[in-house]
Amino acid sequence: HALPGDPETGARVREVRGAVWSQVAPTPVASPRLLAASPEVAALLGIDASDLRSDRFAQVFGGNALLPGMVPYATNYGGHQFGHWAGQLGDGRAISLGEAIARDGSRAELQLKGAGRTLYSRGADGRAVLRSSVREFLCSEAMAHLGVPTTRALSLVATGESVVRDMFYDGRPRAEPGAIVCRVAPSFLRFGHFELPASRGETDLLRTLVDVCIARDFPWIDGTPLQRRAAWFADVAQRTARLMAEWMRVGFVHGVMNTDNLSILGLTIDYGPYGWIDDFDPDWTPNTTDAEGRRYRFGAQPQVAYWNLGCLAQALAPLFDDAAPLQDGLQAYVDTFMAADRAMIAAKLGLRDAGDEDVVRMRALHGILQAGEIDMTLFFRALCSLDLHAPSSSHFDAAFYDADKRAAAEPALRDWLADYARRVLADAAPAHERQAGMRAANPKYVLRNYLAQQAIDRAEQGDVSGIEELLDVLRYPYDDQPGRDAFATRRPDWARDRPGCSTL
Ligand code: AMP
Ligand code: MG
Ligand code: MG
Repeated sequence: HALPGDPETGARVREVRGAVWSQVAPTPVASPRLLAASPEVAALLGIDASDLRSDRFAQVFGGNALLPGMVPYATNYGGHQFGHWAGQLGDGRAISLGEAIARDGSRAELQLKGAGRTLYSRGADGRAVLRSSVREFLCSEAMAHLGVPTTRALSLVATGESVVRDMFYDGRPRAEPGAIVCRVAPSFLRFGHFELPASRGETDLLRTLVDVCIARDFPWIDGTPLQRRAAWFADVAQRTARLMAEWMRVGFVHGVMNTDNLSILGLTIDYGPYGWIDDFDPDWTPNTTDAEGRRYRFGAQPQVAYWNLGCLAQALAPLFDDAAPLQDGLQAYVDTFMAADRAMIAAKLGLRDAGDEDVVRMRALHGILQAGEIDMTLFFRALCSLDLHAPSSSHFDAAFYDADKRAAAEPALRDWLADYARRVLADAAPAHERQAGMRAANPKYVLRNYLAQQAIDRAEQGDVSGIEELLDVLRYPYDDQPGRDAFATRRPDWARDRPGCSTL
């Protein structure tokens, strides 16, 4: 289904029917320069340190040159955005260079984000700014090190060109430095890839896409074609459920959970206006365009994922004789999320198993954390070292943001801690084992919004050392890293009401 781009502009913007992808070359940039790279992703791809530093690397991963065998393309997808069908969207600024087989035998698609216009760019320029690219680069790798399923980031390359965007903070257009991230994943297929042909009645194309996805990304699924498709949908649902439990565990808020931003592999994808929870607040969203402020809030993520799966199920309906397999898949989401949530509660609280009363216990704690404006990451990390024989709220001094709210929440917190200590002591797991398990579930270092912003501010001044420094800290999020306490403190007051950055 290759559609050649316009020879003059490299790409024509248009509706593309009957095709899942179109060939398109990256648009060359003025002076590509490597700003940062992930050594782990490079190693996986067999790229060594001297390759990374070579001019050739910057040329290829800045979109100015292709390596032999690369046949770049952009893909076609649609999506439900903010609850409404949005029609064709597609890779408006993402161009895949092709697929590599990684050192471990896994499949790695290499995709440049910000590499210029494609058939799917609609009104926009196909570019990305440094600020959003730093955020995508750092968060992809931070998530991977946390053990949360995610697309990876190989490189961050400055283009040497500027990009004009409406800034969030002052509302005026501003020229900003441009950059390109190379994302890496076994597949970048999204729910929206399946919704688009379904919305157009292109059932043959939909069926082909599903069967290719199963054969390529879910090769262990067998049975008749109908059985395979049913098992596949259930697998997608379960992956999505596990991903939601992981986001809730670490305090990650995606911010734009539209069906075009949900991965069929259950990976975190599309790092846009995402954010991290500082003070625990299920109603917080980093997305300032989420007018109702409800849809993309932290606490709503498991429900929104379910809603998105419902859209996917609807799209897949023409491939099934009846709705039962799709209903089973949706039920698998619910069951898997409940089980993963329970396992998460046990892990975060240091229990061998979580029963119904522990689910209630965790819910009560959430209420206290929210009312007391208590930092989520600092609280759970401190909980790992609570003295169970003398539980005290002063053990959590570093986690409070507001003295009045603290005072109001203290009595409930004290009661909760006393009850918790009794519960854990009755569980009878050896203390060192329990604490090690808790530290492995409750990270010490996360990519707080203000930390990313500080690295961005420095990078915009030409100093990229803050990016590498953060990447180094976030590589071992569960370890106590001596001398790096500054990366594991409360959000400072000046950063309080700064929203997540726009990706646009
Ligand atoms: P997002 O909200 O970032 O998930 O993007 C939604 C759609 O807009 C996708 O089809 C993107 O490819 C497209 N898009 C976002 N930014 C740009 C841009 N600067 N140029 C072209 N397309 C874009
Ligand atoms: Mg997107
Ligand atoms: Mg995006």
